[in-house]
Amino acid sequence: MKKQFAVIGLGRFGGSICKSLSQQGMEVLAIDMDEDKVNEFSSVATHAVIADSTDESVLKNLGIRNFDHVIVAIGDNIQSSILTTLILKELGVSKITVKAQNDYHEKVLNKIGADKIVHPERDMGVRIAHNIVSNSVLDYLELSDEHSIVELIANSRMDNKSIIELDIRAKYGANIVAIKNGDEIIVSPQADQKIYKGDILIVIGSDQDINRLERQLL
Ligand code: ADP
Repeated sequence: MKKQFAVIGLGRFGGSICKSLSQQGMEVLAIDMDEDKVNEFSSVATHAVIADSTDESVLKNLGIRNFDHVIVAIGDNIQSSILTTLILKELGVSKITVKAQNDYHEKVLNKIGADKIVHPERDMGVRIAHNIVSNSVLDYLELSDEHSIVELIANSRMDNKSIIELDIRAKYGANIVAIKNGDEIIVSPQADQKIYKGDILIVIGSDQDINRLERQLL
Protein backbone atom coordinates (compact mmCIF):
# COMPACT_ATOMS: atom_id res chain seq x y z
CA MET A 1 0.00 0.00 0.00
CA LYS A 2 1.15 3.53 -0.81
CA LYS A 3 2.43 5.59 2.09
CA GLN A 4 0.13 8.39 3.08
CA PHE A 5 1.49 11.84 3.87
CA ALA A 6 -0.14 15.04 5.05
CA VAL A 7 1.52 18.42 4.62
CA ILE A 8 0.23 21.28 6.79
CA GLY A 9 1.18 24.74 5.50
CA LEU A 10 1.70 25.24 1.78
CA GLY A 11 4.29 28.04 1.77
CA ARG A 12 7.54 27.70 -0.17
CA PHE A 13 8.83 24.85 2.02
CA GLY A 14 5.61 22.88 2.54
CA GLY A 15 4.60 23.48 -1.08
CA SER A 16 7.86 22.11 -2.35
CA ILE A 17 7.59 19.01 -0.09
CA CYS A 18 4.05 18.47 -1.31
CA LYS A 19 5.06 18.68 -4.99
CA SER A 20 8.05 16.43 -4.57
CA LEU A 21 6.10 13.75 -2.65
CA SER A 22 3.40 13.78 -5.33
CA GLN A 23 6.00 13.50 -8.09
CA GLN A 24 7.40 10.46 -6.29
CA GLY A 25 3.96 8.88 -6.51
CA MET A 26 2.97 9.27 -2.85
CA GLU A 27 -0.52 9.96 -1.55
CA VAL A 28 -0.52 13.51 -0.19
CA LEU A 29 -3.16 15.44 1.71
CA ALA A 30 -2.34 19.16 1.46
CA ILE A 31 -3.72 21.42 4.20
CA ASP A 32 -3.69 25.20 4.50
CA MET A 33 -6.07 27.76 5.93
CA ASP A 34 -5.51 30.00 2.94
CA GLU A 35 -7.99 29.20 0.17
CA ASP A 36 -5.72 30.46 -2.63
CA LYS A 37 -2.92 28.16 -1.49
CA VAL A 38 -5.29 25.20 -1.36
CA ASN A 39 -6.57 25.95 -4.87
CA GLU A 40 -3.01 26.16 -6.11
CA PHE A 41 -2.27 22.66 -4.78
CA SER A 42 -5.56 20.98 -5.63
CA SER A 43 -4.11 19.65 -8.88
CA VAL A 44 -0.77 18.69 -7.30
CA ALA A 45 -1.79 16.79 -4.15
CA THR A 46 -4.13 13.80 -3.93
CA HIS A 47 -6.49 15.94 -1.83
CA ALA A 48 -6.23 19.57 -0.78
CA VAL A 49 -8.36 21.05 1.99
CA ILE A 50 -8.85 24.42 3.60
CA ALA A 51 -8.43 23.95 7.34
CA ASP A 52 -6.96 25.56 10.42
CA SER A 53 -4.65 22.95 11.91
CA THR A 54 -4.84 24.48 15.38
CA ASP A 55 -8.43 23.22 15.58
CA GLU A 56 -8.27 19.70 17.00
CA SER A 57 -11.72 18.65 15.79
CA VAL A 58 -10.81 19.60 12.20
CA LEU A 59 -7.69 17.43 12.25
CA LYS A 60 -9.65 14.60 13.87
CA ASN A 61 -12.34 14.77 11.17
CA LEU A 62 -9.66 14.64 8.48
CA GLY A 63 -8.57 11.31 9.97
CA ILE A 64 -5.06 12.67 10.46
CA ARG A 65 -4.22 9.80 12.83
CA ASN A 66 -4.27 7.36 9.94
CA PHE A 67 -1.51 9.12 7.99
CA ASP A 68 1.94 7.53 8.06
CA HIS A 69 3.76 10.83 8.26
CA VAL A 70 2.61 14.40 8.84
CA ILE A 71 4.83 17.37 7.93
CA VAL A 72 4.16 20.65 9.75
CA ALA A 73 5.46 23.40 7.48
CA ILE A 74 3.90 26.44 9.11
CA GLY A 75 6.45 29.22 8.73
CA ASP A 76 6.29 32.41 10.71
CA ASN A 77 3.51 31.57 13.11
CA ILE A 78 5.51 29.63 15.70
CA GLN A 79 2.57 29.43 18.08
CA SER A 80 0.42 27.69 15.45
CA SER A 81 3.26 25.36 14.56
CA ILE A 82 3.67 24.31 18.21
CA LEU A 83 -0.03 23.93 18.85
CA THR A 84 -0.50 21.90 15.66
CA THR A 85 2.38 19.59 16.60
CA LEU A 86 0.93 19.13 20.08
CA ILE A 87 -2.49 18.19 18.69
CA LEU A 88 -0.95 15.75 16.18
CA LYS A 89 1.00 14.16 19.00
CA GLU A 90 -2.10 13.88 21.20
CA LEU A 91 -4.07 12.35 18.35
CA GLY A 92 -1.36 9.68 18.08
CA VAL A 93 0.13 10.45 14.65
CA SER A 94 3.00 8.00 14.20
CA LYS A 95 5.56 10.29 12.57
CA ILE A 96 5.71 14.07 12.74
CA THR A 97 8.30 16.24 10.99
CA VAL A 98 8.27 19.95 11.80
CA LYS A 99 10.04 22.91 10.26
CA ALA A 100 11.65 25.02 13.01
CA GLN A 101 12.16 28.75 12.69
CA ASN A 102 14.85 29.06 15.36
CA ASP A 103 16.56 27.25 18.24
CA TYR A 104 13.86 28.13 20.80
CA HIS A 105 11.21 26.76 18.51
CA GLU A 106 13.25 23.58 18.14
CA LYS A 107 13.60 23.19 21.93
CA VAL A 108 9.85 23.31 22.40
CA LEU A 109 9.22 20.95 19.48
CA ASN A 110 11.66 18.47 21.01
CA LYS A 111 9.90 18.70 24.37
CA ILE A 112 6.50 17.97 22.91
CA GLY A 113 7.84 14.98 21.00
CA ALA A 114 8.22 15.97 17.32
CA ASP A 115 10.00 13.03 15.66
CA LYS A 116 12.09 15.10 13.31
CA ILE A 117 12.85 18.79 13.29
CA VAL A 118 14.26 20.48 10.21
CA HIS A 119 15.84 23.90 9.69
CA PRO A 120 15.84 24.29 5.91
CA GLU A 121 17.04 27.90 5.75
CA ARG A 122 19.82 27.41 8.31
CA ASP A 123 21.04 24.14 6.75
CA MET A 124 20.93 25.50 3.22
CA GLY A 125 22.87 28.57 4.42
CA VAL A 126 25.65 26.35 5.79
CA ARG A 127 25.77 24.29 2.59
CA ILE A 128 25.93 27.33 0.36
CA ALA A 129 28.59 29.01 2.54
CA HIS A 130 30.85 25.98 2.15
CA ASN A 131 30.30 26.04 -1.58
CA ILE A 132 31.08 29.77 -1.73
CA VAL A 133 34.31 29.42 0.25
CA SER A 134 35.58 26.56 -1.87
CA ASN A 135 34.49 25.94 -5.44
CA SER A 136 35.54 22.35 -4.94
CA VAL A 137 32.84 21.77 -2.33
CA LEU A 138 29.66 20.77 -4.12
CA ASP A 139 27.60 19.87 -1.13
CA TYR A 140 27.82 19.71 2.61
CA LEU A 141 25.69 17.75 5.02
CA GLU A 142 25.87 18.09 8.79
CA LEU A 143 25.65 14.69 10.50
CA SER A 144 25.97 16.05 14.03
CA ASP A 145 27.40 19.12 15.74
CA GLU A 146 30.89 17.86 14.97
CA HIS A 147 30.66 15.57 11.96
CA SER A 148 29.77 16.09 8.33
CA ILE A 149 29.76 14.58 4.88
CA VAL A 150 31.09 16.69 1.99
CA GLU A 151 31.03 16.24 -1.73
CA LEU A 152 34.30 17.49 -3.27
CA ILE A 153 35.52 17.67 -6.85
CA ALA A 154 38.97 16.12 -7.26
CA ASN A 155 41.44 18.68 -8.61
CA SER A 156 44.65 18.29 -10.63
CA ARG A 157 46.66 17.74 -7.45
CA MET A 158 44.72 14.54 -6.86
CA ASP A 159 44.66 13.44 -10.49
CA ASN A 160 45.82 9.89 -11.16
CA LYS A 161 46.68 9.24 -7.51
CA SER A 162 45.39 6.34 -5.47
CA ILE A 163 43.61 6.84 -2.15
CA ILE A 164 46.63 5.40 -0.34
CA GLU A 165 48.98 7.80 -2.14
CA LEU A 166 46.88 10.76 -1.08
CA ASP A 167 46.80 9.25 2.40
CA ILE A 168 43.69 11.18 3.34
CA ARG A 169 42.84 9.06 6.34
CA ALA A 170 46.27 9.37 7.99
CA LYS A 171 46.84 13.02 7.04
CA TYR A 172 43.39 14.42 7.60
CA GLY A 173 41.52 11.78 9.61
CA ALA A 174 38.70 11.80 7.05
CA ASN A 175 37.46 8.90 4.94
CA ILE A 176 36.43 8.72 1.30
CA VAL A 177 33.22 6.67 1.40
CA ALA A 178 32.39 6.86 -2.30
CA ILE A 179 33.72 8.15 -5.62
CA LYS A 180 31.35 9.30 -8.35
CA ASN A 181 32.27 9.61 -11.98
CA GLY A 182 29.30 10.44 -14.19
CA ASP A 183 26.74 7.72 -13.62
CA GLU A 184 29.27 5.38 -12.10
CA ILE A 185 29.68 5.22 -8.34
CA ILE A 186 32.21 3.25 -6.35
CA VAL A 187 31.02 2.75 -2.80
CA SER A 188 33.64 2.00 -0.09
CA PRO A 189 36.58 2.23 -2.51
CA GLN A 190 39.73 0.16 -1.89
CA ALA A 191 42.97 1.89 -0.92
CA ASP A 192 44.48 1.28 -4.37
CA GLN A 193 41.51 2.94 -6.15
CA LYS A 194 42.76 5.74 -8.42
CA ILE A 195 41.20 9.18 -8.35
CA TYR A 196 40.99 11.34 -11.47
CA LYS A 197 40.51 15.07 -11.83
CA GLY A 198 36.78 15.82 -11.92
CA ASP A 199 35.78 12.78 -9.88
CA ILE A 200 33.37 13.60 -7.09
CA LEU A 201 34.60 12.39 -3.72
CA ILE A 202 32.18 11.82 -0.88
CA VAL A 203 34.11 12.33 2.32
CA ILE A 204 33.03 11.76 5.91
CA GLY A 205 34.80 13.07 8.98
CA SER A 206 34.89 15.55 11.83
CA ASP A 207 34.33 19.19 10.83
CA GLN A 208 37.83 20.03 11.96
CA ASP A 209 39.39 17.34 9.77
CA ILE A 210 37.21 18.19 6.79
CA ASN A 211 38.05 21.89 7.07
CA ARG A 212 41.75 21.06 7.14
CA LEU A 213 41.37 18.83 4.12
CA GLU A 214 39.43 21.54 2.24
CA ARG A 215 42.14 24.11 3.00
CA GLN A 216 45.20 21.98 2.32
CA LEU A 217 44.20 19.58 -0.39
CA LEU A 218 41.90 21.69 -2.54
P1 ADP B 1 7.52 29.43 4.02
O1 ADP B 1 8.54 30.21 4.77
O2 ADP B 1 7.83 27.95 3.92
O3 ADP B 1 7.13 30.01 2.68
P2 ADP B 1 5.10 30.55 5.10
O4 ADP B 1 5.11 31.07 6.48
O5 ADP B 1 5.12 31.55 3.99
O6 ADP B 1 6.23 29.47 4.96
O7 ADP B 1 3.82 29.63 4.83
C1 ADP B 1 3.22 28.91 5.80
C2 ADP B 1 1.86 28.46 5.32
O8 ADP B 1 1.18 27.88 6.43
C3 ADP B 1 0.97 29.60 4.80
O9 ADP B 1 0.45 29.25 3.53
C4 ADP B 1 -0.14 29.70 5.85
O10 ADP B 1 -1.41 30.01 5.29
C5 ADP B 1 -0.16 28.30 6.45
N1 ADP B 1 -0.65 28.27 7.82
C6 ADP B 1 -0.24 29.05 8.86
N2 ADP B 1 -0.93 28.73 9.97
C7 ADP B 1 -1.77 27.73 9.64
C8 ADP B 1 -2.77 26.98 10.35
N3 ADP B 1 -3.00 27.18 11.65
N4 ADP B 1 -3.45 26.02 9.69
C9 ADP B 1 -3.21 25.79 8.38
N5 ADP B 1 -2.32 26.47 7.66
C10 ADP B 1 -1.59 27.42 8.27
